[in-house]
Parts: sequence; C-alpha cells; structure tokens
Amino acid sequence: MAVIQTLIDLQEVDGRIRELELELKDLPRRKALETARLSGVSADLEAAKAGQEYASQRVKNYEADAQALKDKIQQLKSTQATLKSNKEYQQYSIQIDLVSHDLETTENSQIAAMDDLPSAEKRTSDAQAKFDAEKGGVDAFCAEIDERIASVKAELDECMKERAEKAKLVADPQFKLYYERLRTKRWPVVVSLTHEGVCDGCHLVQPPSVAQMADANEKLGNEGRPQRIVACTMCGRILYR
Ligand SMILES: [Zn+2]
Repeated sequence: MAVIQTLIDLQEVDGRIRELELELKDLPRRKALETARLSGVSADLEAAKAGQEYASQRVKNYEADAQALKDKIQQLKSTQATLKSNKEYQQYSIQIDLVSHDLETTENSQIAAMDDLPSAEKRTSDAQAKFDAEKGGVDAFCAEIDERIASVKAELDECMKERAEKAKLVADPQFKLYYERLRTKRWPVVVSLTHEGVCDGCHLVQPPSVAQMADANEKLGNEGRPQRIVACTMCGRILYR
C-alpha cells in the first residue's frame, strides 16, 4: 500500500481519537453546569425555609410577649385585691388598663403574624417541590453523563489499539515522524491538493512545482515505489492527489 494511504488510514483513527478526547473534556463541564444550576434551586429552597422559620418565630415571640403581659395583669390583680386604700386601688386599675391595652396590641400583632404563616409555608413547599423535580432531572442527567464518560473511555481504548496497528503500517519512518510532529499543530495533517492546485488545509494556491511533485508521487504510489513528502508551502501539511 502506498505510504500516503497508510497515513490517511492512521489519520482517520486519529480523527476519531480527537473527537472522543474533546468529548471527554466537555462531559464533566456539562455535568458541573447542571450541578451548579441545581445549587441555585437549592439556595431558593434554603431562603424559603429561612423565611418560614422567621415567620413562625415571630408568632412565637408575640405569643411569649402576650403570656408575659397576661401574667403581669394577673399579678397586678392579685396585689390589687390586697390593697386597702381607694387611691392605691385606682392606681392599680390604671396600670392594669395600660397593660391590658399592651396585651391587646400584642395579640393583634400575633394574629397578623399568624396570617403570614400559610404563604410562608406555601413558598417552602413550592420551593421543595421544584427542588425535588430538578434534582431528579439533574441526577438522571449526571448518571447519563457518567455512562457516556465510561463508554467514551472504552471507545478511546479501542481506538488507541487500532491506532497502534495503523501506525505500524506506515512503513516510511520519515513520513511517520513528519506526521506525528505536525498533528498537534495542524489538523488534519494529510490533505488533498485540489484540481486547482490549492492546499485543502489552508487554501493557499501552490506553485506548479508542488502540483508536479504531487502528481509524480501519485504515480510512484501506483507503481509501488517509495513516495516523497510533498508539503504545502504555507502550512506544511502533507499534500496528495
Ligand atoms: Zn496549506
């Protein structure tokens, strides 16, 4: 087989390897994006929970305040019952009225705070439902990605074995070396020289001598004789007819 053809076969496997390697690099990034999106939903849930906690704590605080005021009224009333003078009795009545007024205000606040509870609870349950749904989706997506990573790795292993075989078939060490050096910088390395004499890699028109060499190379290959490296004068890619 002509050496150019063995290089093209090697390049075909290398093309698949490049794609698999790119995918292998991209897959964890996609997974990370999804996980980051989920943590945003999780933050919403935490905020809703904190809001609910705050609302119920407010109710408890008013409840405790109201209880303290009730105790105080009770205490004032028991002291009042022991008083002898009218003047003192009236002073206590005024105090009891004042504290009772405070109690009423506090109880009204408590009722208002209780009115806020259902909506705070609803925000939490909505956020929880959204989180659960998203998490299910993200978990499934991540599991799929993991599966894909495993299969890409397996495919890559196969390709590497195939590459080793194909590389052995490239009989000319000069061609092989040239190809291996160039493939990290220019891709693809082996490209056709079009009928118009243009490099199919960088699209530069080649001097007639290059076209002549490529034609001669084709002939050498057909006759089973050693071929020479014909390279693009601009990008250095190996050209063939
Ligand atoms: Zn070129």
